[in-house]
Amino acid sequence: MTKRTPIIAGNWKMHNTLAESAALITALTKAGNKNHVEIIVAPSYTSLAKVAELAKGSEIQVAAQDVHWEDKGAFTSAVSPVQAKDAGATHTLIGHSERRSVFGDTDEILNKKVAAALRHGLTVIFCVGETLEEREAGKTLSVIESQLKNGLKDFTEEQLKGLIIAYEPVWAIGTGKTATPDQAQEVHAAIRAYLAKAYSPAFAEATRILYGGSVKDSNVDEIMAKEDVDGALVGGQSLIAEKFARIINFN
Ligand code: PEP
Repeated sequence: MTKRTPIIAGNWKMHNTLAESAALITALTKAGNKNHVEIIVAPSYTSLAKVAELAKGSEIQVAAQDVHWEDKGAFTSAVSPVQAKDAGATHTLIGHSERRSVFGDTDEILNKKVAAALRHGLTVIFCVGETLEEREAGKTLSVIESQLKNGLKDFTEEQLKGLIIAYEPVWAIGTGKTATPDQAQEVHAAIRAYLAKAYSPAFAEATRILYGGSVKDSNVDEIMAKEDVDGALVGGQSLIAEKFARIINFN
């Protein structure tokens, strides 16, 4: 474990009715937090306000799963950073691989979304990760560097202060295949080296880098033991209160 405050974040994706979300957040507020980590959950938009209301007074912070790059306008079905913040979000995911691959979010779009989130004071959890094909072709580090370079283009270190990065190998998301702790460490160290080069060593040292991709109660301890792993972004197991509680309270 590092000197950076760890973060355990749950991405609820397109799951849970309002009642299910309310039950889950209520259970999580009683989960304990023995490691004093930051805890974040990202419910779907329909549950955002309810979850934020129920999380009030607890240690749990609430994130949107995405935001549009405009504050308002004719963008049917989209949610702006203003609306996400109004509903109680303090953070937002940007660039989750499902946004990139299913919805076609390009680096350029993601760059505009980061700008919008920062403009409204939302803390960005910027997701990067390679496909299996890219990994097998030996392109992992270059793909990730390019996602960081283009997605965070034109922002100063000052603007990006507090940024959270999530390394999520696409081949490990929702597949049950987890990167080994050494594979995660290798990429996290490369991301930190990139941040030191692109911004400053101090920025790199302060930035939290989360691992995501089939994190479970059974593998979180070994992943969190790695020097450059500052937390986890959890999908499937964040929907099960006891499992996510165990992940929050990793050993
Ligand atoms: C995710 O969606 O960010 C994720 C990591 O999912 P899972 O934990 O289910 O692989």
